[in-house]
Amino acid sequence: MNNTDILKIEHIKKEFKNNLVLKDISANVQSGQVIALIGPSGAGKSTFLRCINMLGKPTSGSVYFDGKDLTKCKDKELDKLRTKMGMVFQNFNLFNNMTVLENVKVAPIKVKKVSDQKATEIAHQLLTQVGLDNKADVYPSSLSGGQAQRVAIARALAMQPEVMLFDEPTSALDPEKVGEVLSVMQDLAQQGMTMLVVTHEMDFAKNVANQIWFMDDGQIVEKGAPKEFFDHPKTQRAQDFLSKVI
Ligand code: ADP
Ligand code: MG
Repeated sequence: MNNTDILKIEHIKKEFKNNLVLKDISANVQSGQVIALIGPSGAGKSTFLRCINMLGKPTSGSVYFDGKDLTKCKDKELDKLRTKMGMVFQNFNLFNNMTVLENVKVAPIKVKKVSDQKATEIAHQLLTQVGLDNKADVYPSSLSGGQAQRVAIARALAMQPEVMLFDEPTSALDPEKVGEVLSVMQDLAQQGMTMLVVTHEMDFAKNVANQIWFMDDGQIVEKGAPKEFFDHPKTQRAQDFLSKVI
């Protein structure tokens, strides 16, 4: 293991009722890397992300995070390690009965036992970072999709994660709202956050990611630097995919 590897995924398989959805995937992520995970619908991208943070346990294989094999951790240790992985979903999943501010500060208070005062301070900082401190006291129902997703990002960051996992964070947004979310993600990348991003935004993959992992049919078929991947995809499957999306 390279000493800057923050995640090491070894021979992951995931099976649902005799359907092998992930077929022996191995890959490493180094600290500060931004990985764009792309590929056709049904390739297994969401399943793969969920296996990385054990939202869905792999059928076999290992996921090393902070040097620990998550597949072998006891519940308590796993819960602790998972707090260091932020996850952002397509549909925001904000708590609708809480204000924006409460959404951002609840986990640090409940899970990390941070004081209310400190959590409030951090929450305001993060809301400022995503351009939404003026919405601190409103409820999620009054936000646009782009705003809700930025709050979801702030909420994930409030736990001070070491890695952020994004599963199609802009797919549910109106086209004019996509840019504001990508811009927050780009800022985060520039600040050195380690990120795995499932996305169909090829410009983001090209310009912000420093590695592309192309998935098809339960495997990572091709890995490479963005320029190399987009200019000279090596496999027929990547070429076919790119000819359809670009
Ligand atoms: P992607 O995110 O690339 O579109 P998914 O990871 O969502 O792909 O799905 C990959 C395959 O795994 C699909 O065939 C899907 O039907 C199957 N799958 C995903 N989750 C489940 C589940 N909970 N139970 C059964 N099959 C699943
Ligand atoms: Mg998916």
